Formats: sequence, structure tokens, C-alpha cells
Amino acid sequence: MTKPRVVIVGAGFAGYHAAKTLSRLARDRAEIVVLNSTDYFLYLPLLPEVAAGVVEPTRISVPLTGTLDGVRVVVGEADHVDLRNRWVGFTQPEGDRGRIAYDRLVLCVGSVNKLLPIPGVTEYAHGFRGLPEAVYLHDHVIRQIELAEQAEDPAEQRSRSTFVVVGAGYTGTEVAAHGQLFTDRLVAQRPHLKIRPRWMLLDVAPRPLPELDERMSETADRVLRRRGVDVRMGTSVAEATPDGVMLTDGEYVPTCSLVWCVGVRPDPFVAELGLRTEKGRLVTDEYLNVPGFPEVYACGDAAAVPDLTRPGQICTMTAQHAQRQGRLVAHNIAASYGQGRRKPYKHHDLGWVVDLGGKDAAANPLKLSLSGLPAKAVTRGYHLLAMPGNRARVGADWVLDAALPRSATQLGLVPAHAVPLESSSPEVPVRVRA
Ligand SMILES: Cc1cc2nc3c(=O)[nH]c(=O)nc-3n(C[C@H](O)[C@H](O)[C@H](O)COP(=O)(O)OP(=O)(O)OC[C@H]3O[C@@H](n4cnc5c(N)ncnc54)[C@H](O)[C@@H]3O)c2cc1C
Repeated sequence: MTKPRVVIVGAGFAGYHAAKTLSRLARDRAEIVVLNSTDYFLYLPLLPEVAAGVVEPTRISVPLTGTLDGVRVVVGEADHVDLRNRWVGFTQPEGDRGRIAYDRLVLCVGSVNKLLPIPGVTEYAHGFRGLPEAVYLHDHVIRQIELAEQAEDPAEQRSRSTFVVVGAGYTGTEVAAHGQLFTDRLVAQRPHLKIRPRWMLLDVAPRPLPELDERMSETADRVLRRRGVDVRMGTSVAEATPDGVMLTDGEYVPTCSLVWCVGVRPDPFVAELGLRTEKGRLVTDEYLNVPGFPEVYACGDAAAVPDLTRPGQICTMTAQHAQRQGRLVAHNIAASYGQGRRKPYKHHDLGWVVDLGGKDAAANPLKLSLSGLPAKAVTRGYHLLAMPGNRARVGADWVLDAALPRSATQLGLVPAHAVPLESSSPEVPVRVRA
């Protein structure tokens, strides 16, 4: 008798941990297949460190094959779900079509860059949601400093050494904090360049890290300002042009670098499924089940999972929720095959860690507010524990970065047109039949 098949679409925080847990619980009862657009799990929280050259890109890309025992990995972009006949269609990396039937389906395709209707932003800004964008930003920053050094015109030097980051959530705050240190190091190696690069961090919110505890905001604000980052709260971009940005307070800032970190929205794949959504996320019950389809589950950023700790609200888009929901969905699927009992999702926030580069961080593990070296130790320890692989390599990069000068060269592997702001991956039309 053939085993029933569980297909997990997306191998990020939710999908990876769902597959890993399911393999432990039900490998003998079901065939487990992961369908993911890349052959690796991406540890997104260390992306700012990749952009700043602290950590190599391959360190935060944990291979799926070899770390997910007993799981079949299929690399492809899902673009068709037939909910009635229970199969998923996908496109392979070289364009071939494939389809895979399921007995249980878990949808965890994550999120993409959020767009706001601001003139010029889609044309001139770059997002920060995937590895290509981090590698692109790393090269772009080095290129701007190199071109500033070559420029005769002081105005061009100033514009090339000005970097504007929009969105002071954890991503934008970390990008600006690491960015200022990175460019200071680049300039220190260039005695001819007599200008200090300027990083600006903008947000309409009144404080950096607006979604986190106020004490974390105070730490981040203090560190950023001490480091020379121009923190402008209550301010955003009104228009982007090829040569600069017009701010909402009327100031024009000449720049060649606009980094868009205003947040994320669910992957458009979800909206096309024809299932009920909330804020663009797939509605589930507290067991992570999609109503009306007992064999379909969803979790992570793509799912609107009720937050039982905050009645009436849905879980926020965090790695913490995604990872725990991934583990729970595995338990609930195992329960659907008769192993154990299904449980509702309920998770209390365990705190946050924000790496600010150098010796600085802000953290509040279990509501204990930390800054400076204790926060840095907690932040790095947390990342090492949370990564499903490559820990020694990441640790080695941190040690090398502390001990040696950071080598900074443009590899030119990711051209600007390969990282459009619309999405971190090419748009794929989605067709669904229910
Ligand atoms: C720069 C950055 C820093 C962050 N830092 C933190 C942090 O410090 N702490 C925190 O809690 N959260 C952080 N987050 C948020 C956190 O990373 C997300 O909430 C989390 O990744 C959501 O997990 P997920 O599994 O839903 O999606 P993801 O981890 O994004 O995984 C989605 C997966 O689905 C795949 N996929 C997408 N579409 C398809 C398709 N059509 N077919 C097949 N596969 C597909 C993708 O390739 C990916 O592997 C950060 C996010 C970013 C961008």
C-alpha cells in the first residue's frame, strides 16, 4: 500500500520546521515532500549582516537536502493549486512544469516586500527581503563609495555617500546600523575620500522599532545617533527620482541609494487561491486548518492565524510564530493520521533581539531589557541556536570579522534589474481550481 503524501509548499521558518518535525513524528506513516523555490532555507534575520559583509551569503542559506532526513525536496515555484483534485502545479528552475498530488497540504510561502503608492519608489528603490537583495546592496554600497572616491564634483561625492533607508522596523534599523559601520570602514581605507558617509533612517512612526518595547527603541535610537546615523522619525519619502528623494517635510536629499524596508505583505500566491483571506493572509482556525478544507493547512507570514493570547487579533509576522506554527502543524497532521491529539496554536512572545552591529544590540529576552555587550551576547547566542545549520560557519565569520579587516569587493553577481522591488522572486502567474 502506498503511503499518503504530505506536501509542504515553502521551506522558510514555518515549512522547514514543519518538515523536520513531521519527519520525526510520522515518517513511517506518510511520505513528506517539501516544494520550495530554492534548495535552501534562508535565515532572514542575518540578512543585514550579509549586506554589510560581516557574514558570507552561503552561511545563512542552509541546504534542505542533507538537513531534512526522510523528506523529499522538490525545487520549484508553486503556481497552481487544484483544491478539488488535490494537486499542486509548479515550475522548475529551468522552466519545466511539474505537478504533485497531496493527501495533506501545508501552505507556508511567506511574504514579499510591501509597496506603498509613492511616485518613483518601484523604479528607484530596492527592497530587502531575500539573499539577492542583500548581495546586491553589499555591492551597491561598495560601488557608491568607490565612485564617490573617483568623483571630482563634491556634490556627486555627497550624493553617492548618502544612503537612505525607509522603515525603522527591525530590518531597516539593522540595515542602517550595520550600514554606517560598513561605510565608515570602507572610507577608512580610502584616504582621498574626505567625506563621512551619511545614513538616514526614516519612518512615519515616532520612534525606531515602533512595534517593539519602548526601551528597545531608546537603545536603538541612542546607538544609531551616537554612530552618526541621521534618524528622522515622523518623516518619509514623498517622491523618489533617479538623483535623490523628496522627503515628506519638503527637504530634497540627493542620493543614489534608497533601501525600502517598510515591511512585508503576504506572498501574492495566497490571494490567488480563492480562499478566505484577512489582510492578504490565508485565514486558518486555531489548529492551523483552512476552513472548509480539512486536509489543507497554512502557517507563517502567509497565514492569518488567530492569536489566542490577544483575542480578536491575528499573529504578527515573525520568525518566532512561523517556526512554532510549523512545529504545531506537524503535530496536528500527525494527529490527523491517528498519532496524538491535535492542539490549538497559543504562543506568548518570548522577546526580541536586534543586532545593531559592532558591540551593540538591543534585546528583551523574557521581558528583561538589555543593551550593550549583554544584549549582543544574547542576540548572537539566540541566532546560533535558532539557525538549523551552518552554526560553526556563522560563528567563524563573526570571529574573523572581529579579528581581521573586512574585505570588501564588488562581485557584481546580482544586477539591479534582478532585484525589482515588487517581489524577492520573479512573479509567477497563479491558477487555482476549487
Ligand atoms: C531582513 C529580515 C529580518 C528579519 N528579522 C527577524 C527577526 O529578527 N526576528 C523575527 O522574529 N522575524 C524576523 N523577520 C521576519 C521573519 O523572517 C518572517 O516572519 C519569517 O521568515 C516568516 O516565515 P515563513 O516560513 O512564513 O516565510 P519565509 O521564511 O519567508 O519562507 C517562505 C518560503 O517559501 C518559499 N516560497 C515562496 N513562494 C513560493 C512558491 N510559490 N513556491 C514554492 N516556494 C515558495 C520561499 O522561497 C521561502 O523559502 C525578518 C525578516 C526579514 C526580511
